[in-house]
Amino acid sequence: MNIKSFHPPQRVLMGPGPSDVSPRVLEAMSRPTLGHLDPVFVNMMDEMKSLLKYAFRTENELTMPVSAPGSAGMETCFVNLVEPGDKVVICQNGVFAGRMKENVERCGGTAVMVQDEWGRAIDPQKLEDALKANPDAKIVAFVHAETSTGAQSDAKTLVEIAHRHGCLAIVDAVTSLGGSKLLVDEWKIDAIYSGTQKCISCTPGLSPVSFGNNALEKIKNRKTRVQSWFLDLNLVMGYWGGATKRAYHHTAPINALYGLHESLVILQEEGLENSWARHQKNHLALRAGLEAMGLSFVVPEGERLPQLNSISVPEGVDEGLVRSMLLSDYGLEIGAGLGAMAGKVWRIGLMGHSSNPKNVRLCLAALDDVLGRLNAPIQRGVAVAAANASL
Ligand SMILES: *Cc1c(COP(=O)(O)O)cnc(C)c1O
Repeated sequence: MNIKSFHPPQRVLMGPGPSDVSPRVLEAMSRPTLGHLDPVFVNMMDEMKSLLKYAFRTENELTMPVSAPGSAGMETCFVNLVEPGDKVVICQNGVFAGRMKENVERCGGTAVMVQDEWGRAIDPQKLEDALKANPDAKIVAFVHAETSTGAQSDAKTLVEIAHRHGCLAIVDAVTSLGGSKLLVDEWKIDAIYSGTQKCISCTPGLSPVSFGNNALEKIKNRKTRVQSWFLDLNLVMGYWGGATKRAYHHTAPINALYGLHESLVILQEEGLENSWARHQKNHLALRAGLEAMGLSFVVPEGERLPQLNSISVPEGVDEGLVRSMLLSDYGLEIGAGLGAMAGKVWRIGLMGHSSNPKNVRLCLAALDDVLGRLNAPIQRGVAVAAANASL
């Protein structure tokens, strides 16, 4: 092995995450490392909490980044809120709700799965029926933005139904935060987790979470200890909580947090609503180009995520070969299908810093070229013009 430093190539990241990271965020991460109890750093942590409250649209005091990726945010919600014997109703319309089930069962709870078609939004009526059939359920959990399929569900309505049946609501907002409308307080979401590498466009490895008062009550009144020492909020809050004294719990990922702080500052500079609108505008331009080319969306209109576009692979096309040609010839990464959709779809992300007109044009031109060379049944030479007309 040759000992040398690692120099990754410059890619354009248009998959299901990570998204492109702004040079401003990368530069922030290269600043001098501080101690995790340094007063200057602690001050930044407080600012970080306010910035996260802004992004989540919440006043929840317990709003902070977990020191690990989105999956750890998911576990933080489940290990703290689910006690042995608790029944949890999980709405599933893609891959990620399957992980929620794993979490519930490993916490000693019982998962009741409410199945929806993959590629569709969650049907609120099915949740209503499941809660009527399971009056002892304590928690409802669902994914707001299903990155595995590109479907967006009506979180506000699903949370209302959960509350009407006396349940707390846990929401996966890993892909929605920053990219589409999400109002934690107005929608009365009890516990929510997200990730930094999707529409927030920071590097992967952190998971913003937020907990409302009813969730905190349930955590305080637990009869059993949280099974995970690292993710036990009672302990984590000794470091992230209280405005005054902070005690060591774990060494925070200091420089990664500088990056998250910078990416949230960028979000605030742009304005949250403007960011949602930008994601929608670029999605419409990409859609115009893809449809002009003759490609079709998996998710019906009205249920589509602007930040994750699932496209059916045309008949007879080797989907893996297309992705590897895009990567080698254009430095462009798009995503493959996941779970039941593997081999059948491409997932084109327009997340955060990656959601811009330049990337829309690049992706369309690159697909036109690569699919053309493979003699795929598409209309050639029309996609970029269609996107331009939309932009
Ligand atoms: C990416 C993703 C996760 C997992 O996040 P990691 O950072 O990969 O752990 C969970 N849920 C959804 C909806 C996601 O898109």
